[in-house]
Amino acid sequence: MSIISKDIQKAIQLLTDEQLVAIPTETVYGLAGNIYSEKAIKSIFSTKKRPFFNPLIVHISSIDVLATIVAHIPKKAKLLATTFWPGAMTLVLKKNAKIPDLITAGKDTVAVRVPNHPVTLALLKQLPFPLAAPSANPFGSISPTKPVHVANYFKNDIQMVLDGGACKNGIESTIIGFENEEPVIYRLGALALEDIEAVVGKISIKNKKENSPDAPGMLARHYAPATKTFLVDDVSLEVKNHPKKKIGVLVFKTSLNNKNLTEIILSENNSMQEAASKLYTSLHVLDTLNLDVIIAERFPDSGLGKSINDRLQRATFSL
Ligand code: AMP
Ligand code: MG
Repeated sequence: MSIISKDIQKAIQLLTDEQLVAIPTETVYGLAGNIYSEKAIKSIFSTKKRPFFNPLIVHISSIDVLATIVAHIPKKAKLLATTFWPGAMTLVLKKNAKIPDLITAGKDTVAVRVPNHPVTLALLKQLPFPLAAPSANPFGSISPTKPVHVANYFKNDIQMVLDGGACKNGIESTIIGFENEEPVIYRLGALALEDIEAVVGKISIKNKKENSPDAPGMLARHYAPATKTFLVDDVSLEVKNHPKKKIGVLVFKTSLNNKNLTEIILSENNSMQEAASKLYTSLHVLDTLNLDVIIAERFPDSGLGKSINDRLQRATFSL
């Protein structure tokens, strides 16, 4: 029997019993457990094979719950939360004493957001505890944007994937921390930098620490397909470097019109939003076709294009 189900009551039961449930969000599917259950949190790490130094994102039902999680809310954090929640933005704030160290990897800060997905919001509203939920993929592999991706990854290791359809945004949340009360981007993501700057002004980006990363999304190789993948400006040119190979290409909007290639066009309508929502699904598909190489096209460096390039960079051997 499939573990994919729409039964919210069953999800509530499992989570209350300290089990894990994969949940839909607008970014990617999350592997969720009660933040106050040591058993549940430990099994998130073991199921994902995620190293304990990688902290988890806490998902809450509304901004009203924030005060029960954090010790201090900078003015600009409040402004961002009221503007963008529910939404694809995670805030990293000083934690309060109730938040277990396992969640935060021993840090004195906790990552938190209100996801914008009707099914998961309904679930969170009925639970007396928030949910810790990192992406529902084994550590280092492509993030899941459909229930079937999660089911294929974990098979019998989890009991349920709560079916909320395909993820609308399709890449992870934008993570924002605070240094001296000022916001700093720790991870580019589904909420575009320009939209954030329109609310709080110019903001610096610190997402390139390779050792002891504040956000594991920062690790140089992450979100990666098993097939060797390249990121280039000119895909046709790169194709010539792989004669006699089975090649998959991932392009933004324009077909290469080359019958010898397996091609996925992310958005014929020239929409970065559509491209972001299809990015991981397309990498999943190309990765299952037994290709020798995948060649991905670099996006324009603005709006969601910046976030898409960040993910592609981490998926690839860029040239
Ligand atoms: P994932 O959902 O798998 O992408 O993982 C959750 C993300 O939240 C990771 O990239 C974490 O680094 C980030 N995160 C969680 N807690 C913190 C924290 N206290 N400081 C910085 N980043 C965090
Ligand atoms: Mg992840």
